[in-house]
Parts: sequence; C-alpha cells; structure tokens
Amino acid sequence: MKTKKLVSTIWCEGCSGCHMSFLDMDEKLVDLIKNGMAFSATPFTDLKIPPHGTDIGIIEGSVATDTQEEEVKMMRERCKIIIAMGDCAVFGGIPTMRNRYETTEIFSRAYKQAETNYNQHLPAGEDISKLLAKVKPVNEVIKVDYYIPGCPPTPEAIYEVLSKLIEGKTPELKGKLLSYE
Ligand code: SF4
Repeated sequence: MKTKKLVSTIWCEGCSGCHMSFLDMDEKLVDLIKNGMAFSATPFTDLKIPPHGTDIGIIEGSVATDTQEEEVKMMRERCKIIIAMGDCAVFGGIPTMRNRYETTEIFSRAYKQAETNYNQHLPAGEDISKLLAKVKPVNEVIKVDYYIPGCPPTPEAIYEVLSKLIEGKTPELKGKLLSYE
C-alpha cells in the first residue's frame, strides 16, 4: 500500500485568502487525497502538528509576532519540506506596510487614535503575542524549499506543486501558473 504524504498547514500574518485558494482546489483536493495526500494538521482541521512524520509543511502569511516566529521554526523542525504559500509568506506582502513605523506608533494609532477605537487600553499580558520590530517573509526566519507566489496563488498553482511533491517529483511553476489577475 502506498505511504501517505502527510501535509500540515499554518497561517501566520495573512488574511486566510491563501487557505481559501487551497480549499478552492475543490475536487482536485479529493484527487490529491486519493493519490496519497493526508492532513496531519491545518487551521481547518486540527492545529496540533505532530512532532514527527509530517512530509510537507505549508505556511501562509509573513512573520510578524514572536509566536509566529516560534511556529514557523517548529514547522521547519517537524516537516521535511517547507512551502511558502502566497505573497505574504514569499515576500512579506501587505503586512510589511507597517515596517515604515515603530511598533509604539502602530499601537498608538490602533488603540489610542483610531476613530473606531479611541483612547482604549493597550493590550497587555504574558499570553499576548509580541509584535516583532519588522514583519519578515518566511525565508528570513527559516529555510524554505518551495515558493508559490500570488495574492493569493491560484488553486491550479497550489495543485501543481502538491501533486508533483506527492509523486516524488520536483514541482516547477511556469506559464499560466505564474500569471495573476
Ligand atoms: S498573499 Fe494575499 S491572499 Fe495570501 S495571506 Fe497574503 S494578502 Fe492574503
């Protein structure tokens, strides 16, 4: 019997649009599962990534907090192959717009000055993730093996990469798979 390729996904500083595109593979997702893919953990199944045995780890979003930094490092330790999915993970994307400002300015704007959130208390406590000084693409924190750019990447591009990896082949995105609307 063919060994299953276990896939885990997480989303960091992203909008979940890349995971929506992942789900938009629709029946192709079923094909991937029939061809040997299985999920070990995802935001839409179970967040607990097993310590060993995950073949492919997919990361949506850039790295913006200390918690996200820990999570992507854990993905690298626990997954044989890491894929950065979407422009935020690949390049930093929209969340890097905050890199022009100090974190104190960002908190002040969000919790003190915002018209809809005027003069509120700043979030505090040991359990609250801390913003990193700068938002980073995933490859500034860990080694990335494959990149699927796009905002979000098309379901076809995600399928191309996963189907090849499940067959034990090296995926290559080109032509229409690298064109965006
Ligand atoms: S790449 Fe685009 S769709 Fe994906 S998380 Fe970033 S903003 Fe959202």
